[in-house]
Amino acid sequence: MTTPIYMDYNATTPIRTSVIEAVTDAMHMVGNPSSVHASGRSARKIVEKARAKVAALAGCRTRDVTFCSGGTEANNAVIRGAGAASVIVSAIEHDSGLAAAKLVGVPMFVCGVDGDGLVNLDELRALLADAPAPALVSVMFANNETGVIQPMQAVAQIAHEFGARLHTDAVQAAGKINVDFPMLGADYLTLSSHKIGGPQGVGAIITAPTAPLAPLIAGGGQELGRRSGTENVAGIAGFGVAALEAMDDLGEAPRIAAMRDRFEAAVSDHTNTAFIIGRAAPRTPNTACVAMPGVKGETQVMHFDLNGICLSSGSACSSGKVKASHVLSAMGYDEKTANASIRVSLGRMTQDSDIDALVAAWKSLYDRIVGRPVA
Ligand code: PLP
Repeated sequence: MTTPIYMDYNATTPIRTSVIEAVTDAMHMVGNPSSVHASGRSARKIVEKARAKVAALAGCRTRDVTFCSGGTEANNAVIRGAGAASVIVSAIEHDSGLAAAKLVGVPMFVCGVDGDGLVNLDELRALLADAPAPALVSVMFANNETGVIQPMQAVAQIAHEFGARLHTDAVQAAGKINVDFPMLGADYLTLSSHKIGGPQGVGAIITAPTAPLAPLIAGGGQELGRRSGTENVAGIAGFGVAALEAMDDLGEAPRIAAMRDRFEAAVSDHTNTAFIIGRAAPRTPNTACVAMPGVKGETQVMHFDLNGICLSSGSACSSGKVKASHVLSAMGYDEKTANASIRVSLGRMTQDSDIDALVAAWKSLYDRIVGRPVA
């Protein structure tokens, strides 16, 4: 059996060989990082080394990195633990951000996006003017379905003008575009290991020095009291190595963007009924969200799967549930169009020949179901 062509990097990424080695080495050791003896100190050393690497990826201080179980937990921890009097989330946040905002127990407001998927800054301003202060604003850096990148510095400026704090979910930005926590102007930032070639089940919350964070998980007071529970030493070791290598991945961005652009150009050259969602906005180099009106996303995913290509329709985290993507709905697409899209997300292992296969499979599906329009 041939290995499938993997084009679902926004769902999860192939684990790096160096990460597997770091995880394996850590698993061969015994020691609780909270123990004071030599074995405990060795485990602590692994955790702190990894913390420095994750801090380097985010451009923040090591002590501002709190390890946790992943992006979902980090989003919940910040949104529920920031102590805000109200929460404003963008309409295109990951489900974990939207669900967490509903649980805080303070007034929640949703800020819309325009047709390109960019957060509406005037609406944000208006919401902040009315929302109980201090508010927490949560706007993701890059979207998982479209790759659209938000103008974080402008969002930060507006949030801070109103005395609000800003959280940004940078899960889909890390390793694809530069993530510089101080430069973004955010007070909190979310990272996830498995989106950058690290193990699943590990992530980090980055907090600005003055940003409050009530722990979501209380107990033994690990992670400076911000997140209790014995640290996932092996997972954290892998996350650290992945963070270091993810910084090098930024050099791969032009190659990956060129492949993505070649696929999109092939789609546009073939027909004018299919289209690329979010194309006019700044996007991460690896993501293409393509609508083929009249063909359900699930049908498309099955077709590609039969052709040996793994990709997803809408957000992989919500696949299985047949519902229109809330991201595409927020961008103004009707349910039919939102349900007729696929997400192609490339990564460091993607080769030009994979794009050839993708283009061929896309065209064969289009020609079979939609039919070639008369020129
Ligand atoms: N935030 C975004 C933007 C994501 O794409 C995802 C996962 O798809 C998450 C958060 C959740 O991260 P994790 O899988 O580490 O819980």
